Amino acid sequence: MQEKLKNIKEEALRAIEAADVPEKLNDVRVRFLGKKGELTAVLKGMKNVAPEERPKVGQLVNETRAAIESVLEETRKNMEKAIREERLKQEVIDVTLPSRKNLVGHSHPNTIALEEVERIFVGMGYEVVEGPEVEYDLYNFEKLNIPDGHPAKDEQDTFYINKDIVLRTQTSSVQARVMENTKPPIRVISPGRVFRSDEVDATHSPSFHQIEGLVIDKNVSFADLKGTLEVFAKELFGPETKTKFRPHHFPFTEPSAEVDVSCFKCGGKGCRFCKGSGWIEILGCGMVHPHVLEMCGIDPEVYSGFAFGVGLERIALLKYEIDDMRLLYENDIRFLRQF
Ligand SMILES: [Zn+2]
Repeated sequence: MQEKLKNIKEEALRAIEAADVPEKLNDVRVRFLGKKGELTAVLKGMKNVAPEERPKVGQLVNETRAAIESVLEETRKNMEKAIREERLKQEVIDVTLPSRKNLVGHSHPNTIALEEVERIFVGMGYEVVEGPEVEYDLYNFEKLNIPDGHPAKDEQDTFYINKDIVLRTQTSSVQARVMENTKPPIRVISPGRVFRSDEVDATHSPSFHQIEGLVIDKNVSFADLKGTLEVFAKELFGPETKTKFRPHHFPFTEPSAEVDVSCFKCGGKGCRFCKGSGWIEILGCGMVHPHVLEMCGIDPEVYSGFAFGVGLERIALLKYEIDDMRLLYENDIRFLRQF
């Protein structure tokens, strides 16, 4: 029996020595110490041992078990230590590698364009005001000289909440509110989201942004309007920029004009960007209609003023030479990352 235990022990130690990975040590444990292991088999054979011999044999079995366990444990520790050291060696930090850059968000091209426009007008003494996006028909249309049945109401394809409430089709509604509540002089711009039931395409969206400007004071003339928009165009597109006023019609201004700027790409010679004309249409403007002043409680005999409205997206598209408005709303990070 002693001989047998000695053989088991030697065999176990050899198996431990031969093991090269922790899994094989586990196999050794199962094979010699497990429930169906060789040492357990010896214990089961105890019934063949003379009763007086049993304690001695039992002790021997326990000693053998302890010896094998202790060698197993030590080998396992050494093996894990070696594995850990090997891994540390492989995972050593190379401090000379370039660092990973943090991904920091930044402003949307619309926001950049808006801040630029605000900077220019605030610099000329304008105040930035905002108004509600859900607006009374009264402010969106009526007070701006667009009564019921006026073709502009159809033209603008309005989203109606009910007969009296609309999603504003223009930020001019803010002008009416400001005129009602403020004693001239008034000098404001009102940027914001507007809504029209347009189909989405490269140049249309049911929701876009406008920046509206309004100046009311004594003796404000069309020359003031021209001067203001010339400064604006030069600040936005560069000091060489020329402006051109073409007569137009808006219900809330008289006279009215559309403004073109000389193409900042070709300087006016004509290119693909300006479709060969040398000019790019940029905004609408005019002298505030006396009837509008009157409806908003301002005496047209004493005061006069001008207004203009520019599409924010139009500026962003021009400034960054983007040819499809949808890109501004799709939130494609590959696109947005470029600004
Ligand atoms: Zn051009």
